[in-house]
Amino acid sequence: MAKSGNKNGGNGSVKCSFCGKEPSYTDILVPSPLGDAYICSECVDQIEGLLKDYFSGEDAKGKPASKGAKKNVAEDAGEKTEIPTPRQICDFLNQYVIGQDDAKKYLSVAVYNHYKRLSQTRDDVDIEKSNIIMVGPTGTGKTLLAKTIARQLDVPFAIVDATVLTEAGYVGEDIESLLVRLLQAADYDVAKAERGIVFIDEIDKIARKGDNPSITRDVSGEGVQQGLLKLLEGSIVNVPPNGGRKHPEQKMIAVDTKNILFICGGAFDGIERKIAHRLNTHVVGFTGRAERSKIDSDNYLKYIAPQDLKSFGLIPEIIGRLPVLVHLDPLDREALLKVLTEPKNAIIRQYEKLFAMDGVKLTFTPETLEFIVDKAIEYKLGARGLRTIVETIMIDPMYETPSEKVDELVITKEFAEEKIKKAYIG
Ligand code: ADP
Repeated sequence: MAKSGNKNGGNGSVKCSFCGKEPSYTDILVPSPLGDAYICSECVDQIEGLLKDYFSGEDAKGKPASKGAKKNVAEDAGEKTEIPTPRQICDFLNQYVIGQDDAKKYLSVAVYNHYKRLSQTRDDVDIEKSNIIMVGPTGTGKTLLAKTIARQLDVPFAIVDATVLTEAGYVGEDIESLLVRLLQAADYDVAKAERGIVFIDEIDKIARKGDNPSITRDVSGEGVQQGLLKLLEGSIVNVPPNGGRKHPEQKMIAVDTKNILFICGGAFDGIERKIAHRLNTHVVGFTGRAERSKIDSDNYLKYIAPQDLKSFGLIPEIIGRLPVLVHLDPLDREALLKVLTEPKNAIIRQYEKLFAMDGVKLTFTPETLEFIVDKAIEYKLGARGLRTIVETIMIDPMYETPSEKVDELVITKEFAEEKIKKAYIG
């Protein structure tokens, strides 16, 4: 370091390489590691100021953000992690899920708010938990949406089926078992599990059988709903790490469910009738005569409201704990065609990749794709059936091609028809 007045070994040419100041005009001159350049303290100060300005829009990972970029962070176990904006969440969902635009929008906002809620400080306005309930026919993408969100947020994710749950002490699984799955998904890291997502499928199956509270015991319906309530609203639950009641000696793990996001899904078969009934009887206010004529009677689900869930048999306390209510649309022919080919991991792309790994270029003709969709509709299998149909068509080529010397394979409609005719999947 060259002090003022020190000519650095008598070298008269030493000066700040940035402003040209000579040692006598500055406190200190710092040499570069190679010794061929110098910088004075004033220039260091100036550069420090410039860097501060430049990094004022810095992102969580310390990289400079583009001008105007928003700071968007949440505390994650002491660290700062970036939360994607609702638009980014939705864009990600678009890569994997076809259609369901309303559901995507509500889910993106709910998840974004959930993570904002996690980052709030104690004395903030208390932002309430935004658990979600998705209502839609089976095979329309409820599980896929929940899974995709968990994948994007990189948080532990567990899927549980509400039909296996029963009130404690009865045959079936205790309510706590759904937290066992989450703990397993988080490799038993409790802090991580406490910020995870639980998808409870078939929530409609634990509806009580009528709109009136039951007089008799309802161990797999209302009783389970009461048990779930405790989890949804946030409480500390003692979870047996191995699940079940077979190991009464196991040490319980205390899990706080306050910050776990619960996403429930169900087909709610027959709820359309209840929605239609409500829409047609409540002419005053919400729907006038003119309004009523605008109702899309092909898709009553889009008018779903919390009172319809109550009519179906969910208890009001549960409905209150699932404030985000979204519906999913049935997938029509056009949507099913897209499901086959468009998502990032679309079924057809997966088969193309399987064959490409053997050096075979696999192609499905457009007529074949339409044929597959028509069969899925005919057999009432929906999106879930697409894979079964493609698998049935492809089993022979998958068996034979690896031992044949072919580098291209085209699946025609005739070939597909023949394979389906032989199978009895209908
Ligand atoms: P559910 O609504 O019964 O939970 P899933 O999400 O499990 O339905 O869907 C079953 C399968 O069907 C998914 O794995 C996916 O391959 C396909 N699928 C269903 N809906 C869609 C969709 N909207 N976009 C893309 N694929 C879909």
